[in-house]
Amino acid sequence: MKKQFAVIGLGRFGGSICKSLSEQGMEVLAIDTDEEKVNNFSTIVTHAVVADGTDENALKSLGVRNFDHVIVAIGDNIQASILTTLILEEFGVSHITVKAQNDYHEKVLNKIGAHKVVHPERDMGIRIAHNIVSKNVLDYLELSKDYSIVELIAGEKICNKTLIDLNIRAKYGVNIMAVKRGDDINVSPHGTEKILQGDILIVIGAIVDINKLENALFDKD
Ligand code: ATP
Repeated sequence: MKKQFAVIGLGRFGGSICKSLSEQGMEVLAIDTDEEKVNNFSTIVTHAVVADGTDENALKSLGVRNFDHVIVAIGDNIQASILTTLILEEFGVSHITVKAQNDYHEKVLNKIGAHKVVHPERDMGIRIAHNIVSKNVLDYLELSKDYSIVELIAGEKICNKTLIDLNIRAKYGVNIMAVKRGDDINVSPHGTEKILQGDILIVIGAIVDINKLENALFDKD
């Protein structure tokens, strides 16, 4: 059976989630108080409905409690976002993801039972900043305040060397999860794997250790 998603709030964030889920063949119920936005999504998602996320009865009659995953993408109105999340938690929805506007909002959402809190503007800012500082950082994903995953482009310092030669795990305490070369991806590469210029290394580890690795083996701008 197809997974059922409900997205409450059809701004840029909620809207792109709706589109992407629909493209992946999921059943999506899109909800917003703004009729124009709902109309814009009526041909994209399975159902698009004008309703207020803070209206418990409206959510009940839409059967939101039975959805596999509900995404609360209400932005500026923090009070509405919190109240909607609280209602979903009381319904016992099994997965609730909420977009936070700031750190205080995030703290409250975690306390009242959101299963996942996302902070897209902040996270994208961090990723772009890493990319600006180091031309070798293609992408950056913060796993926690101490750990992250980065994609690094192999430059002259490491090309034509094997993973055994580089001995990255022992020297820097980080792991190379995969090596991407063009369209190919080699997951859990062997030590004998030779790195070529332009390969993309997907590295996981403590942020301090990844920084050390970047400083030692990857050119900064
Ligand atoms: P984005 O950055 O995703 O564009 P935003 O952070 O600027 O969004 P808003 O535009 O304030 O956030 O809200 C996103 C959507 O949520 C809007 O389309 C708005 O109509 C809708 N919305 C606001 N309050 C409610 C509510 N109580 N119930 C349902 N939808 C709501």
